[in-house]
Amino acid sequence: MIKSHLLPHALGLIDGKWIEADQNSSGDDSNRWMEVLNPANGHIVARVPRMGAAETERAIAAASNVLEAAFSISSDPEQDFTEEGRLLFLKALISCLKTERQELARIITLENGKTLRDSLAEVDYATTFFEDATRHFARLSEIVPEEHAGEALKGTRWVVNYVPTGVAVLLTPWNFPLAMLAKKVSGAIAAGCPFVAKPASETPLAAIALWTLMERSSCFAGARMPRGFANLVMGGSKEIGETMCDDPRVRVVSFTGSTPVGKMLMERCAKTIKRTSMELGGNAPFLVFQGADLAGAVSALVTNKLRASGQTCVCTNRILVHDAIAEEFTAALCDKLKALKPGDGMDSQSDFGPLIHEKAWDKVAKLVGDALGKGAKIMLGGTPAKPSAGTGWIYPATVLTGVNPDMGMWREEIFGPVFAIGSFRDEAEAVQLANGTMHGLAAYVFAAPGESAVRLARKLKCGHIGLNTGSGPIAAAPFGGMKESGIGREGAVHGVLEFCETQVVAEKLS
Ligand code: NAP
Repeated sequence: MIKSHLLPHALGLIDGKWIEADQNSSGDDSNRWMEVLNPANGHIVARVPRMGAAETERAIAAASNVLEAAFSISSDPEQDFTEEGRLLFLKALISCLKTERQELARIITLENGKTLRDSLAEVDYATTFFEDATRHFARLSEIVPEEHAGEALKGTRWVVNYVPTGVAVLLTPWNFPLAMLAKKVSGAIAAGCPFVAKPASETPLAAIALWTLMERSSCFAGARMPRGFANLVMGGSKEIGETMCDDPRVRVVSFTGSTPVGKMLMERCAKTIKRTSMELGGNAPFLVFQGADLAGAVSALVTNKLRASGQTCVCTNRILVHDAIAEEFTAALCDKLKALKPGDGMDSQSDFGPLIHEKAWDKVAKLVGDALGKGAKIMLGGTPAKPSAGTGWIYPATVLTGVNPDMGMWREEIFGPVFAIGSFRDEAEAVQLANGTMHGLAAYVFAAPGESAVRLARKLKCGHIGLNTGSGPIAAAPFGGMKESGIGREGAVHGVLEFCETQVVAEKLS
């Protein structure tokens, strides 16, 4: 079991109190806890509460009370989380995150399996969202320039205020246990939206650590967060999700996860017309044209694909290489991968870690089997014997050629270290293949630099495009998907405005 000063309680937090799951009426304790397992060895890292509808309802009530108090004329100044207070709080939290960088990374690796190097990068990435959020307070109110209001409305001041939308719920996946929460929590705090968060059941510990740090930040002078502003529940996703979607007090559902679950949540939210922010699955193409720097493209691809062992939404899923250079590119890729070693993320010798769990390993093996059955060829790795939980859910780096749209891995996220290579004859075919999916999250283009590369990149229907870089999103630029990869943006001022309603005040000046 993990021992960490950031996890003094492996519990949820509702209305300012660390709590266990409720006892059921029969007093049976067996279903009140869930285990967090280390994907590298199957060891139990922690036991956390398995909460349900009742705890979620109380968390929503706590958040709602904070909001009601903020909108009440006789509001208690103690419960008022002013812009100044929110800014001081964010600054205190940033300082805590920086101080605890190593310990947060250790927690992430133990519950998620990614290498410590990846986890440190995740903590830094998460911190940048809080830093970026501090820059947008001035954008929460804007005056419409008088000359834009028209002659007839001269003498009237038009002000656009971005006010908190209402209670927000934040649902996040296991592949970035801290960063996905950081994107949402930073935006909600900057906007002044009280919230209830639910992390993935595989990885609740980074979330608990973040709440420990929020509790610590709230003690800094002037930075006190009202009790009930930030609530944390964990447990049965169906029951918790349904309670969140059905409650009329919840006005924003901010979800990061798979497209099927996102669709279901959107449908359920329609009943109470909630605002939804959906960061969903991807199917990123990686296009390599003649004239591209091949060594640079291979290197960028390996870094992009092996981050979190291929388990990120912006990981390359389909590699499309021009016919004339496909062989040379594949050989260079295999050479580079042969030198890399998977293993326990805590071992500094490991280049990439295990997959999150058995189900994930089975899915990758099934997609590889399907592609081979339909004519793909193995150039590296392939179909390993299934590991046991005690040895970690390692999947070796695998390179397949001859991958095409008939194969499952072309349409679905592989979410593993499998490099699926197909080819194209010309630009038109490349763009058509790249866009031929219902996803539109990320894409990467490697081509000779210049205007035609820029023009080509702009033909892709994706929210994030890397042109001669495999780099993913940053906090200072908006990120999100097109088509079935989602609705809304995180990062930059866009990530704050996801939690705001637009309100206009037209004031007649005397
Ligand atoms: P998931 O199964 O959709 O789960 C995501 C979150 O939703 C978890 O907290 C999960 O809780 C919860 N959930 C599951 N079923 C639910 C339901 N019926 N009602 C309410 N909540 C429910 O996704 P995942 O496997 O954790 O994550 C991988 C997916 O996330 C991939 O598709 C990846 O591309 C996507 N992703 C997208 C982005 C982006 O920015 N676009 C970023 C990261 C990941 P439990 O764990 O308790 O079931």
